[in-house]
Amino acid sequence: MPTIYEVEHLHQPSGWLSPGYLEIDDRGVIVRVSGHRATSEETQTLAGFGVPGLSNLHSHAFQRGLAGRTEHVTGERAEANLWTWREQMYRFVDRLTPEDYEAIASLAYLEMLQFGFTSVCEFHYVHHQSGGARYDNPAEMSDRLIAAADRAGLGLTILPVLYAHGGIGKPPEKAQLRFVHGVDLYLALIDTLRSRRDRCATLHVGAALHSLRAVAPDEVRAAVAGVYAIDPAARLHIHVSETTQEITEVEAALGARPVQWLLDNVGLDGKWCLVHATHLDAAELAGAAASAAVVGLCPLTEANLGDGLFSLLDYHAAKGRWGIGTDSQCSTSIAAELRMLEYGKRLELRRRNVIARPADGLGSHSGRVLFDSALAGGEQASGQGGGALVPGRRADLVMLDGDRNVLLGHVPQTALDAWIFGGTQNPVRDVMVAGKWVIRDGRHPKEPAIREAYRDCIACLTQ
Ligand code: ZN
Repeated sequence: MPTIYEVEHLHQPSGWLSPGYLEIDDRGVIVRVSGHRATSEETQTLAGFGVPGLSNLHSHAFQRGLAGRTEHVTGERAEANLWTWREQMYRFVDRLTPEDYEAIASLAYLEMLQFGFTSVCEFHYVHHQSGGARYDNPAEMSDRLIAAADRAGLGLTILPVLYAHGGIGKPPEKAQLRFVHGVDLYLALIDTLRSRRDRCATLHVGAALHSLRAVAPDEVRAAVAGVYAIDPAARLHIHVSETTQEITEVEAALGARPVQWLLDNVGLDGKWCLVHATHLDAAELAGAAASAAVVGLCPLTEANLGDGLFSLLDYHAAKGRWGIGTDSQCSTSIAAELRMLEYGKRLELRRRNVIARPADGLGSHSGRVLFDSALAGGEQASGQGGGALVPGRRADLVMLDGDRNVLLGHVPQTALDAWIFGGTQNPVRDVMVAGKWVIRDGRHPKEPAIREAYRDCIACLTQ
C-alpha cells in the first residue's frame, strides 16, 4: 500500500508546494507529487518544511574520532598544516581495529542523519591490518562500514580507494601499508562489495583513486578501465589539487597540473567527482566545468586544515557542478558547511550574498542556491537515486521543524536562508531514507547504543 503524506511546505525543483502531497510506494520510491489531494485515502500530516535529503559526497568516517583532538600546537613543527595533521591522523589510524572502525563510523553516520544527510559517499582507504597484513576477509573493513551505515539507516555509496604509493615515485610509508593495493586485488574488492548489494537496497558501489600522488599514471588508466569493465556507470572519485605542494609535485612528474592531466588523460565526465580541487588555474576551472564532473567541496575541513578557498564564483558562473562533503568530520552539519562556503567568499570579497543572483526568482536567495546546488551535485556524485522530491526518485525526505527558533515565523521563500544563516540551532526533526523513517521527533532508536559503543572505543584509542 502506498503511503500519502500531506507536507505543510514541500520543496520542489521549481519552488514549493504548500501543502504538498507526497505518495510513496512500498519500495520507498516517490510515485506522485501534487498540490492537491487526489484521492479520499488517508494521509499523514507532516508540519514544517519538507526538503530532499542531501548526499554527503566525501567522508572518511573514522576521522570523526580525531575531531577536536588535533587543535593544539605540538611544538614538533614551526608550522602546522595538512601534512602535520596527516601525521597525527596516521598515528590514530595505526591503532584502529575493525570494531573501532565500525563504532566510529556508526556515530558519524548517525550524526549525518541528524543534520539532514540521507546518504554518504565513503572514500574508504583503510583496508588492511596495521603493518599491511591482509585480513582473512579482504573486505573486512569495508563490511564494517556497510554494517555501520545499515545500523544508522544511512544510504551508502562505498568508494574503495586505490592507494599504491607513498608519494610520486616513493614506496608507501609504514603507516600507509594499511591502505595499499595493486590494481588487480583492488578490482577484486570492488567485485566482492558489489555482491553485498542484495543485502541492502541503499548500498551502491563506486570507486576512488586516492590522488595522483598515490596512484601512478599507468595504474590510473588500468584502474579506470577495470572499474568501467565491472560497471560502466560507476562513480569515480579522486582527491585533487588540495594543496599547492601537490600541484608542484604532479606538474614536475607528469608535466601538467593535476586536473589538467586528468582532463587530458582520463576524459573527465559526469561520473567523476574531483574532491577539493581547491587550487585550479583558469583553464582547469573551465575544463572541469565543461566536463560535467562534480567538484567535491569540503568547506569546514578545508578551513580546518588551512587549504585555501576554491574559486566558487567563477566555477558556479561557468555552470560547474559541485556538492559538499564532511571529509574529516570536524562538522557533519549541512548548514555549517554551506555557511562556511558562502562566508569564505564574503570575507575574501568583502561583499554579501555572493552566489545569489539579483532578480532571479529562487536564485536570488543564497540559501536556496547553495542548498539546491549541493543537492544536485551530491546526487550526481553518489548515484543514490534521491536528490529531489519528484516521481521516480527515492523517498529521502528531511522535515525541518518550523517551531524551532531558527525557523520561527519563516515562510518557504526564506526557510533555507534561515536554516543556513539564521543561527546554529539544528531544526532537523524527522528523516526518511528510502521511504522509511530513521529519525522521528529528533530520536534515533539506536542512538544510545551507538553512543555507548563509540565512548568505549574512543576511550581505549586515546588512552
Ligand atoms: Zn578526503
